[in-house]
Amino acid sequence: MAKEPLLLTPGPLTTSSATKQAMQRDWGSRDAAFIELTARLRRRLTALARAEAEHVCVPLPGSGTSAVEAMLGTMLSRDGRTLVLVNGAYGRRIGEILKLMERPFELIESAENLPLDAETAARHLDADSRLSDVVMVHCETTSGVLNPLEDIADAVARRGKRLLVDAMSSFGAIPIDARQIAFEGLATSANKCLEGVPGMGFVLARRARLEQCAGHSQSLSLDLHAQWRGFENNGQWRFTPPTQVLAALDSALDQLAAEGGIGGRFARYWENCHTLVSGMRALGFETYVADESQAPIIVTFHMLQDPAFEFDAFYDALAQHGYLIYPGKLTDGPSFRIGCIGDIRATDMENLLGVIGAILKDKGVHRMGRGA
Ligand SMILES: *Cc1c(COP(=O)(O)O)cnc(C)c1O
Repeated sequence: MAKEPLLLTPGPLTTSSATKQAMQRDWGSRDAAFIELTARLRRRLTALARAEAEHVCVPLPGSGTSAVEAMLGTMLSRDGRTLVLVNGAYGRRIGEILKLMERPFELIESAENLPLDAETAARHLDADSRLSDVVMVHCETTSGVLNPLEDIADAVARRGKRLLVDAMSSFGAIPIDARQIAFEGLATSANKCLEGVPGMGFVLARRARLEQCAGHSQSLSLDLHAQWRGFENNGQWRFTPPTQVLAALDSALDQLAAEGGIGGRFARYWENCHTLVSGMRALGFETYVADESQAPIIVTFHMLQDPAFEFDAFYDALAQHGYLIYPGKLTDGPSFRIGCIGDIRATDMENLLGVIGAILKDKGVHRMGRGA
């Protein structure tokens, strides 16, 4: 069997063999052992955000977007008005979801290479007293930019409004402390920085808010309140749970703890990111996001302008060497992305850089940089 490729993407990611091993058994979803596994995971995930005092963890089957959709559909009132802060495709997706749900919202869009601005958000909240909720993405995976969650959360809380966060690609690697950052809901998934396998998302929801959210959801299976009541009543999932995904995540959380928790993971991802960025710059590539706004999650590079550089051929050559990278998703110009997350280390990045250098040489790419 060919060696598995290394996934340098924003998820699903390369997982450890221990995580894969943890999936080698079947679970009865209504059995006491699985109920205990679910309860343990819910506790552990809440503790990662130091959110035990006021929040509950509500897991759901599906991709990360399912969790975001459940959070929005359940935690926003049907007659509330939501401010959506957008600086990339995942923020725009939040707008799409609200449009489909026919929830009133105002969307403000800013440059994709820059972090969101807390003062702009504050100005909009002050200008329209109907706004009740704010939604934002923490790390905007479109570009890799880190948004100022703490500043925006402060601005929202000071005005007595509610904040919902898509922390899909940051949770588990970038510290989020619920005792310092006021949020009503935070959605994330098993298969990003927690390094589990795909198939489950979850929302950390403030209990006092969730209690008010019965009947908000227009969806049966994405009703976060109903699923939370289910867990409270009998510890069970309402519909078929992704059993192996939970078992894998439980193992992945053991590995996260062994690595030194979120601080340890943050350090490893930063080392991956620094190794990648400095090596790519030495090869002539330029990053899209300035260093001070870059999260250690995924890095966007401008395409080289050399006519000998052709992305599809570059992608295929890297794939042949066992590295899967990601196309760009920016609205302003051609780009590609390389992820720093998953069960990968700086030595993997060094090997990747060696392969990229050899591919460029092989293709005769000489004129480096993006300037003509
Ligand atoms: C990955 C991601 C999602 C969810 O993507 P799915 O493909 O539905 O798992 C949502 N928001 C952000 C910021 C992400 O990085």
